Amino acid sequence: MAQHEHVRVAVIGSGFGGLGAAVRLRREGITDFVILERAGSVGGTWRDNSYPGCACDVPSHLYSFSFAPNPEWPRTFSGQEHIRAYLEHVADTFGLRPHLRLNHEVTMMRWDGDELHWVIESANGSTVLADVVVSATGPLSDPKMPDIPGLADFPGKVFHSARWDHDADLTGKRVAMIGTGASAIQIVPSIQPKAAKLTLFQRTPPWVMPRMDRTISGAERWLHRTLPFTGTARRGLLWGIRELQVSAFTKHPDQLGLVERIAKSNMARSIKDPVLRAKLTPSYRIGCKRILLSSAYYPALARPNVDVVASGLAEVRGSTVVASDGTEAEVDAIVFGTGFHVTDMPIAERVVGAEGGTLAESWKGGMQALRGASAAGFPNWMTIIGPNTGLGNSSMILMIEAQLNYMADYLRQLDVLGGRVALDARPSAVGSWNRRVQERMKRTVWNTGGCTSWYLDANGRNTTVWPGTTAEFRKVTRTVDLSEYQVVRVPAQRDARPAVAEEVAG
Ligand SMILES: Cc1cc2nc3c(=O)[nH]c(=O)nc-3n(C[C@H](O)[C@H](O)[C@H](O)COP(=O)(O)OP(=O)(O)OC[C@H]3O[C@@H](n4cnc5c(N)ncnc54)[C@H](O)[C@@H]3O)c2cc1C
Repeated sequence: MAQHEHVRVAVIGSGFGGLGAAVRLRREGITDFVILERAGSVGGTWRDNSYPGCACDVPSHLYSFSFAPNPEWPRTFSGQEHIRAYLEHVADTFGLRPHLRLNHEVTMMRWDGDELHWVIESANGSTVLADVVVSATGPLSDPKMPDIPGLADFPGKVFHSARWDHDADLTGKRVAMIGTGASAIQIVPSIQPKAAKLTLFQRTPPWVMPRMDRTISGAERWLHRTLPFTGTARRGLLWGIRELQVSAFTKHPDQLGLVERIAKSNMARSIKDPVLRAKLTPSYRIGCKRILLSSAYYPALARPNVDVVASGLAEVRGSTVVASDGTEAEVDAIVFGTGFHVTDMPIAERVVGAEGGTLAESWKGGMQALRGASAAGFPNWMTIIGPNTGLGNSSMILMIEAQLNYMADYLRQLDVLGGRVALDARPSAVGSWNRRVQERMKRTVWNTGGCTSWYLDANGRNTTVWPGTTAEFRKVTRTVDLSEYQVVRVPAQRDARPAVAEEVAG
């Protein structure tokens, strides 16, 4: 029989979640782990999204690890290449390279209930056995391409924002941009000056606030380098401001009217044409969809070489793109800014649990996981940025770090229980957690604001966003409550020690 590598923990993915998990494992003294990554380098989101203008929309001093502060951030909202370099630096600084298995796309993970480990197969033919899986494959890592009739026969370049074709020179070309989400509004001002014509297909207009981006001065960087507490204080301030905003999103959406006025004046500054302004004015409450930040988007839309079609793309006929409202445009390239598989994560099809079903089957009524991490029937498997851990206004790194606390305690609990052991979330605990989350969701702007968004799944349930502050999430993920789990042992041990398992679990 083939001998497979057996590790204590297999981390899947090497974005902020996977690298953060790896650092945390080392801090816990665990070195018996691998990081399986499908791509040829680390970086996740920040490796894959290299479109012109790509940058974070949370200030860099908050959008970075608390344990790896970077006094050298060049801008308040740093660009993709700097964030990617930061993640490479994290991999080097914390000695993660020996654990990395690049070009290892996980195609299947099966729970072996006899041996109490996961059997993880990769596309390159290798198999790894792991006692625990930490799945950090990212909520926004698999691009979503709509099924458009005629697209396959389009003669020009076609690509998604997250897989930018750097060989496609858009200079002097007629370009169709499909979508008006966070990526599209960064792409539009970057390509508008060089395109001969830019036609923007907009199903729903976004709310766009001014972006307070600026170079971080040499003096500020010197200060953060020389007196590290100043960087920590800056991060704390950025965090605190965002925590104070949360109740408007979760409990008092009516308070967001003032924010709408700021967004409207951001538009009014650049869009003088009343017809265009009407097209660009949202009819739903601000915050219902992700609030976007740009001071360059509206000025770009006001340029004479840009057309806004207030309708989605319906069909492609040769080199003509046709909107649902019948508008046509002849183009040389089509760029899709149509988002990601968020509520139907492809990785869920590739996880087979204790009962032999996939996670996707178990989630067919909607994603749900205990404290955003554990799914019932999938022992010793947890996800980073799982269901209902997303944020509308702050840094996902805060949520990732909270989940890493949970992961660390989970592994400690396994040690305390001793022997070959697994923890399987009780269906009742998952259900009760999910009911509490959904109950709180009822009042939020995401559910009441009058929009449809990628936060909602096919059943209209919000399975993506956390309806509270990051401090609260950190509190509820600080430790693992064993009463929420069934303790699973290999059959012989289970027979020998039932009382111990019951007692600890109860
Ligand atoms: C353009 C863009 C801008 C964003 N800006 C912000 C922002 O400003 N602020 C913010 O808080 N959040 C932002 N986000 C959200 C961002 O996704 C998270 O902040 C964070 O980077 C997610 O990290 P992650 O490690 O969970 O996932 P990812 O960074 O997506 O990493 C997942 C990794 O898993 C790998 N993987 C996936 N499937 C497999 C498989 N089957 N086998 C092996 N490897 C696999 C992928 O290749 C990838 O490397 C942005 C997202 C995008 C797309």
